[in-house]
Amino acid sequence: MKDANGKEADELLEELHRDFDGRRCVALRHKRTKVAFGVMFGLIAILGVFITVSLLLFKSVIYPPTPLQLCNPGEYVIIPLGTNGGVTEDNLSSFLLSKAGSLYFLALDAGTIFTGLTRFVQQIQTQMAENHHTFELFNYPDWAVSIEQQTGWVMRNRIVGYFVGHPHLDHLTGLMAVAPEDYYVDTNGTSLGHPKSIIGLSSTLNAIESDLFNGIVWADFVSFGRYQYQVVEDGMVSDLPSLLGNFTQNNPPLGPLDFPNNVTVTTHQTCHDTLNSSAFLFTFPDTAQILFFSDTGVPSSVPLTYCNWTERLLAVWKSVNLINLKAILIEVSFPNSVPDSGMFGHLRPKDLMQQLNVLANIKGVKSLSTLTVIIEHIKPILDYYPTNPFHSDARQIIQNELTLANNLGVKFVFPVQGQQVCV
Ligand SMILES: [Zn+2]
Ligand SMILES: [Zn+2]
Repeated sequence: MKDANGKEADELLEELHRDFDGRRCVALRHKRTKVAFGVMFGLIAILGVFITVSLLLFKSVIYPPTPLQLCNPGEYVIIPLGTNGGVTEDNLSSFLLSKAGSLYFLALDAGTIFTGLTRFVQQIQTQMAENHHTFELFNYPDWAVSIEQQTGWVMRNRIVGYFVGHPHLDHLTGLMAVAPEDYYVDTNGTSLGHPKSIIGLSSTLNAIESDLFNGIVWADFVSFGRYQYQVVEDGMVSDLPSLLGNFTQNNPPLGPLDFPNNVTVTTHQTCHDTLNSSAFLFTFPDTAQILFFSDTGVPSSVPLTYCNWTERLLAVWKSVNLINLKAILIEVSFPNSVPDSGMFGHLRPKDLMQQLNVLANIKGVKSLSTLTVIIEHIKPILDYYPTNPFHSDARQIIQNELTLANNLGVKFVFPVQGQQVCV
């Protein structure tokens, strides 16, 4: 029998067999290749796991977890909890002060506490995870697993007092917000019952007592035993631990050089438009100094005779020891374009530079290059900005204006919420 091409049936059958065998060979080859790849990938995976485990073991033996330090030994630690001077309710004026190696922090103003502290805790935890660190500062109990519990524990047991420079709300709302939860605790989370200090001028503390913790707009957390008022006045030099009370009870004790032991604070009354404000000069056992200003500057609504802000600042400049002065924290609320009538007791870059030149002149120096000046209380620009409407970031404008006017070689720092500054 033949087909249309004249092939015999036997030939066709043989051709079919050859074709079938050929396909089976290809299929078999594919199967073998798949098995080979599978075995290869399996070996690579096992090798990968082996190398990873070996490296981890090697790292933990050769590089055991190291304690994380905030800043270098001997340096001072400043943690911005809030850097703005208004509008942003989660980033208002507040800084923590400590020394490298210390477990305790002092709050300087209290516009934002919890949000800033949360940012700081999260940032440290990232560093710990990435760099294989332990961190004694955060040795919170095992039950503190959420970021709120961990931040709460740091706030309760590590912030040991609040210096409040003046009673405006942008310097106090953070303290008001945390007050119901702000008390020293033991490892079970039970209150230890001793109060934290709120420290300030009598005019500041009277305002807090009568207008905030008054049992009407907010509960009186002082009468509940959460806080105690500690009055300081203009020119007073105080021993810091005695202002803070017994904060080491059930917490690690302090050595003689541990912050805040043997630190003194000098209080200066300053002018903030119609209101008394303050500057606090901290002097450490090694004679280093750090100077914190709450709001101060050019008045708008009162004659200059009411409170001479430049005279008050002159008294502050005279009291510092420039050689030992590590850092000044001071506000620059507005750019240079804001007129005096819109200043309401604040500073512009040109006002700050003028004051720093006064400081250099009275100390008889031409340079302040050893000095770090941390710029705080910047007010975000919300309106049309006339000088350059397309670049209306207040921080950037103030930074540019200060850089252009910096004839003294000052190191200006523009702090970021939650990110430590070392001086
Ligand atoms: Zn303010
Ligand atoms: Zn103010």
